[in-house]
Amino acid sequence: MKFGFDVDDTLINLREYAFHYYQEKLGQKVAIDVFHELDRVEIHEAFGLTDEEGRNMWNKSVDYIYYTDCPTYPGAVEVLQQLKAEGHEIYYITARSAKHGEDTKAWLKKQGFPVEDDRFYCGMKDDEKVKIIEELQLDYYFDDKPEVLETLARDGLNVFVMDQSYNRHMKLPRFSNWTELHELIKDEIK
Ligand SMILES: [Mg+2]
Repeated sequence: MKFGFDVDDTLINLREYAFHYYQEKLGQKVAIDVFHELDRVEIHEAFGLTDEEGRNMWNKSVDYIYYTDCPTYPGAVEVLQQLKAEGHEIYYITARSAKHGEDTKAWLKKQGFPVEDDRFYCGMKDDEKVKIIEELQLDYYFDDKPEVLETLARDGLNVFVMDQSYNRHMKLPRFSNWTELHELIKDEIK
């Protein structure tokens, strides 16, 4: 079977990692509860930044956030390795910009994710992401972002939502950790 995965906030805990980094860089102690209540993907509001200030802060921080030691979600590497060992095809589809493609691929490999160069897609807007996912004819797709998931689910693809504060309104199969997801996958494909 063909399994497709988003990267940020599906396989790795990027926003929370960025939240801690912002605390340090901006010298602001913001309770983690504030993070867990954010109703959008962007985190800058928790620090009192406008959208423009937030964009600047993100652009300044992104290399550090992407390529140092952002944690993978526990079990994510192992589940993907096991799917690969069982003969399934693993695809990565990330909206990170194209200039981050090669470095992101290398970083994922270093974390232990099974990445094949021709099964890694990077640098597209949400609507292009949907198009690529549909062209790949994936059997299952995993993401955290409402805009992407809603379109794909409407088009009949089997999608799973990585539980995050900004996607709780979505009525789709949901998982909040990778052990749980592995059980869901095993049930689905047996
Ligand atoms: Mg994501």
